[in-house]
Amino acid sequence: MYSEPLLEVKQLKKYYTIDQGWFKPRKVVKAVDDVSFTVYKGETFALVGESGCGKSTTGRTILRLHDPTSGQIVFAGREISGLSYSEMRRLRRKMQMVFQDPYASLNPKKTIRQILTEPLRVHGVASPTERVKQAVRILEIVGLSEYHLDRYPHEFSGGQRQRIGIAKAVILHPELIVADEPVSALDVSIQSQVINLLLKLQREFSLTYVFISHDLGVVRHISDRVAVMYLGKVVEVAATEEIFASPKHPYTKALLSAVPAAHPDEKRERILLTGDVPSPVNPPPGCAFHPRCPSCMEICRTAAPPMVNAGEHHVVACHLYN
Ligand code: ADP
Ligand code: MG
Repeated sequence: MYSEPLLEVKQLKKYYTIDQGWFKPRKVVKAVDDVSFTVYKGETFALVGESGCGKSTTGRTILRLHDPTSGQIVFAGREISGLSYSEMRRLRRKMQMVFQDPYASLNPKKTIRQILTEPLRVHGVASPTERVKQAVRILEIVGLSEYHLDRYPHEFSGGQRQRIGIAKAVILHPELIVADEPVSALDVSIQSQVINLLLKLQREFSLTYVFISHDLGVVRHISDRVAVMYLGKVVEVAATEEIFASPKHPYTKALLSAVPAAHPDEKRERILLTGDVPSPVNPPPGCAFHPRCPSCMEICRTAAPPMVNAGEHHVVACHLYN
């Protein structure tokens, strides 16, 4: 599992500045605040956490859809956080995104033929007939057919549209795919079909996934490792089985306590968190989780906990383990 690293994210920060009008101070949203992790070739690395914790911003910044405020993004050994737009465009072939809502990522005015052959044309792939051939091939791989080529996105069901979104992402044979809640908008009955498609493509094309989801049941099924985010920071990273069997961070424990048990003999006590998720404009000092933490100690109010080892390939940012 721990093969070569494909992606290394180092101390990544993404702050948004919000203008509030004249004479008012600008607000700074610390959407991603000093995040580091490594994604290995061929694995599925999940980013989980409550809504607003910075998962999407992390995913988009990795692909340079947003420019990082600071930090490094190393892809296949190359530092990419400072690459120019045109250099990035060439590299984008290797790093693709699948979005939650394929409707937003598929141009409604274009046919599937146009949507799928466009990236091939932009990246100078093959002749027009070869492009169509490749489009048909990828359509068949994702479970659609040649006769779908001349239809428009609105003529498909949600699940089919996500298959097209996935086809568009894989048609250039990328190495890395960031999938941001790819099944969250789909009916439960369709979700597992799309998950199985992602797993099949991963085997077939040796893909590496960063899989963003708030659905821990799905994450447990699909991912090799999990990183838990809270308020713009990664608080724990471990192998999927390890984190479900033995979560360390009080936030992870609470988050996982809400997931239905996978086995009947798996006992879980539901931990209810009190209080709201604080704002990333004004995060609490010390450990950002301390106001909601059932194990809060004095030090947690003032000092941010460093990331420490809590087992084999298991790290946690919590003073309980320091
Ligand atoms: P998640 O995907 O985990 O739900 P996001 O990455 O979308 O979280 O958002 C993280 C935080 O950054 C949220 O507080 C969100 O409101 C804020 N945010 C996201 N995008 C922007 C933006 N373009 N401008 C200002 N704030 C943003
Ligand atoms: Mg999101």
